[in-house]
Amino acid sequence: MSKQKKSWVWQHFVSLPSGDVVSCQHCEKRLTYQGSTTSHLPKHLMNVHGLSRNEGKKKLEQKTILPFVEKLSPREEANINSALVEWIAKAQRPLSIVNDDGFAAFIEKLNPKYCLPSRQTVKSLVQQKFLQVKDNVCQFWSFIQYIFLLFLKLFCLSIVNGYREKRV
Ligand SMILES: [Zn+2]
Repeated sequence: MSKQKKSWVWQHFVSLPSGDVVSCQHCEKRLTYQGSTTSHLPKHLMNVHGLSRNEGKKKLEQKTILPFVEKLSPREEANINSALVEWIAKAQRPLSIVNDDGFAAFIEKLNPKYCLPSRQTVKSLVQQKFLQVKDNVCQFWSFIQYIFLLFLKLFCLSIVNGYREKRV
């Protein structure tokens, strides 16, 4: 490696395997780099990106810090997912609705923090919901069965008692 490669501009350019061509890490513009002549590289950084030797490193670091995006709590996300699944099931929407660009844009307008689940996730959530509903229905029917048997027992008892009373 030559001294030139250590120049500060190399923090912003990547040399491409195809000869004397470099690619700017900021805008992917390709610039030719002949031998050791790199003077036009800092010019590009200065003119296009406002970077100079001293602030170059600082600005690059700032650039790599992603903007802070506030996220929903897992509970909030689960609540919205649950409402989404209920709507999909009740309105008989296809699961692929989550891949619809217009729908995604609409959801983002409603809540930019919410990230639509994948089709696969929605599918498993629908299955979970179905099992949950089935469970509730089973519980409901066993309750009805229990009440019915209880009344049947009381009814039989009253007949037996009535029979006994008649005999006395
Ligand atoms: Zn550039």
